[in-house]
Amino acid sequence: MNAFGKIYPLKGGLIRKFSVSATLSANHTCKLLVIGGGSGGCAMAAKFSRRLPKDSVIVLEPSQDHYYQPLWTLVGGGVTTVAASRRPEASVLPAAAKWIKHAAHSIDPVKNTVTTVEGDTISYEYLIIAVGLVNDYSKVPGLTEALADPDSGVSTIYSPDHCEKTWRNISRHRGGRAVFTVPDTPIKCPGAPQKIVYLADAYFNKVGVRNKSELTYNTCLPVIFGVKKYADALMKVVKDRNINVNYRTVLREIRPDRKEAKFVNLDTEKDLTLPYDILHATPPMRTPDFLQNAGDVVNDCGFVTVDKYSLQHTKYPNIYGIGDCTDTPNSKTAAAVSKQSLVVEHNLLSTMSGGQGSRRYDGYGACPLVTSYRTCIMAEFLYDSVPHETLPMNQAKERVISYYMKKDLFPFLYWNFLLKGRYHGPEFVRKIINPFGN
Ligand code: FAD
Repeated sequence: MNAFGKIYPLKGGLIRKFSVSATLSANHTCKLLVIGGGSGGCAMAAKFSRRLPKDSVIVLEPSQDHYYQPLWTLVGGGVTTVAASRRPEASVLPAAAKWIKHAAHSIDPVKNTVTTVEGDTISYEYLIIAVGLVNDYSKVPGLTEALADPDSGVSTIYSPDHCEKTWRNISRHRGGRAVFTVPDTPIKCPGAPQKIVYLADAYFNKVGVRNKSELTYNTCLPVIFGVKKYADALMKVVKDRNINVNYRTVLREIRPDRKEAKFVNLDTEKDLTLPYDILHATPPMRTPDFLQNAGDVVNDCGFVTVDKYSLQHTKYPNIYGIGDCTDTPNSKTAAAVSKQSLVVEHNLLSTMSGGQGSRRYDGYGACPLVTSYRTCIMAEFLYDSVPHETLPMNQAKERVISYYMKKDLFPFLYWNFLLKGRYHGPEFVRKIINPFGN
């Protein structure tokens, strides 16, 4: 109802009610609410907009712009610009869905409602949560200030605001200490923090400053990569390129005035202070605030609790999760989203018709580990770190074809197929060209 108590039916049958308050808030109803218009949200909105009557799908997404985040690694390496990774959100959402440009604030999974930060209420029959991860800079004192200062030498490829600074730092480096970090929280694309090390190494070599530079990669992990086959190959890369690796070593503070970074060893609890000329930080990450306070929709760390195979919520069968914000133990990548989107589509359709979906997500994830400006190790694997390669060749080898797949093929597939709900990973190709591969 509006400020005077009238109800306005909107196009397509949605009812929008305006309440009497200083800020006008509205009520909406829909068959399917998709929270988040990133990789997973766009794919699911596209799929269900095709299957359900017009205006049955609402997408809740506050951002004006959509980013193809995997490109930010190459932005940090000076291969492309952040503008190339950005498109207007309106251009990637399906026209048949209704876009509410708000952020979700809270969820009531019993009443089937979500409220927005602006005060609107959305009633849904089915819900897909796809809100991804956010950077939590505040966990590292000094990091926010250092990122904001253009001359600090500190940057991150994990943000559109700072990935071009990574390239400025790398390209202006004339020798000295280059320090790289990996936090002890779940992160998206766990391979990206080391890809930027290899690009920096390659660039320093190209411009003749490598012999005056020391590169140190500090990772929370006890290994260079979680899948042994690729870890073995990457160990050879770091050895050949003379890159120092500190395992179980996590950034705790940055002192930009002294150009010092304080680390702690997670096993010994000993502190380590590293001076730096440039520092690439992979920030700690968490799910957005909305999920941090979402009660029994999430686990203790704020990740949506779904069955790792069906992707259906463990308590509320009309809720599904996709992408980085769920508690599934896979590598958080757009590649995983592509495979998950098919599973969520099938299983949610079964739920809608009163059945139980039978599709299973196998944990597929991929990580194109760029090792120079023309080579890449193409890691592909399933749950439990089992390699699962598409090409009939050893993908742990540094290859030129893998680099161009990362640089050109994957962005093409993303914009033209994944976001439109028409790409489910390379399994069909694999079945044809590598049916007996591992
Ligand atoms: P996102 O795509 O992040 O989308 C989440 C959306 O939710 C956002 O649009 C956000 O605005 C919205 N949102 C947040 N809070 C709210 C709220 N309260 N209400 C409503 N909406 C909200 N993947 C690969 O496969 N290969 C790679 O090589 C690769 N490299 C990467 C390199 C970098 C530097 C980065 C940052 C990522 C990389 N990724 C890579 C990971 C990939 O981009 C993510 O895994 C993927 O985008 C996850 O999709 P998602 O839908 O879960 O989250």
